[in-house]
Amino acid sequence: MEPFNILIADPVDSYIIDKLSALELIRVRYEPNISRGELLQKIANYDVLIVRSRTVVDSEIIRNAKKLKIIARAGIGLDNIDLEEASKRGIKIVYAPGASTNSAAELTLGLIVTAARRIDKSMSYFREGKMEKVTGIELFGKTLGIIGYGRIGSRVAEMARAFGMNILAYDIIDVSNKVAFVNGKQVSLEELLANSDIITLHVTVDIKSRPILGEKEFSIIKEGSIVVNTSRAVVIEPGPLLEALNSNKVSCYAADVFWEGKSDVETKIYAHPNAIFTTHIGAQTKESQRRIAEMLVQNIIKEIGGVR
Ligand code: NAD
Repeated sequence: MEPFNILIADPVDSYIIDKLSALELIRVRYEPNISRGELLQKIANYDVLIVRSRTVVDSEIIRNAKKLKIIARAGIGLDNIDLEEASKRGIKIVYAPGASTNSAAELTLGLIVTAARRIDKSMSYFREGKMEKVTGIELFGKTLGIIGYGRIGSRVAEMARAFGMNILAYDIIDVSNKVAFVNGKQVSLEELLANSDIITLHVTVDIKSRPILGEKEFSIIKEGSIVVNTSRAVVIEPGPLLEALNSNKVSCYAADVFWEGKSDVETKIYAHPNAIFTTHIGAQTKESQRRIAEMLVQNIIKEIGGVR
């Protein structure tokens, strides 16, 4: 039997490399910094490609991947993979849904608290030797609007309840029973935007997703709202967001995700005094990386058994 060739094209937990390398008839190549050009050249030799979010697996890569049978994403978002092209070629997709839910939800709460109290500003003042006060808002009694009430959205709701927040949720599927567990209510997007003090986004996106918050939506939100985004940047249109930040309609935008381009508007948002960013660390905890690794290895082994 021919050995199966696996290429790991992004940095992953060593568990994945060790476990897969220990299997019979499996050859693992670890190239965590591989460039797009190199990947385009080398991909034809591989049966399995493992990526995180750095490597974009678009139609060009997939067309060059003559032997590819499995694309594995060490994480949850599949927006860096052209799923349509992969499905046309019969390539299986393997990922680790749920493995980073708790870590991503905890980071979201961290961003909510940071934005509400501007902990970032106060810390910067202290480092600069200034003992200036920053007046924030309490979360207790405020309304949290959750857009996308799946694994992470619903976990955020549970945590926010501990702060005494009220929950509104918007989703394209019926999540009313799940929201009722936290005494919350599923509402339309308009109702959520008009009634939330803090809006947090947790929708899944694909390579073709359109923004959910644009000019019309920013016109509906409450004055001084906080917007938090740990899902993907594409769900927010940068132009209207910048206007909302400049007019203070959005008092703080806190995000763990970035637009792909570097347009003037996007650059202005990154530098805006009321926009705060973390470096895409939602899943970046020891616990989450290990859970992702274990789930991914299990799923890859299962799929290899199916396609061999
Ligand atoms: P999930 O599939 O469990 O939940 C997503 C929910 O969004 C579903 O209920 C779905 O019906 C809903 N949805 C999809 N499109 C929608 C739309 N247009 N409007 C309203 N609702 C919509 O996914 P999850 O595990 O909760 O992950 C949510 C997001 O978090 C994903 O985009 C994922 O990529 C991102 N994520 C980010 C990090 C990070 O490092 N920042 C870590 C993990 C996950």
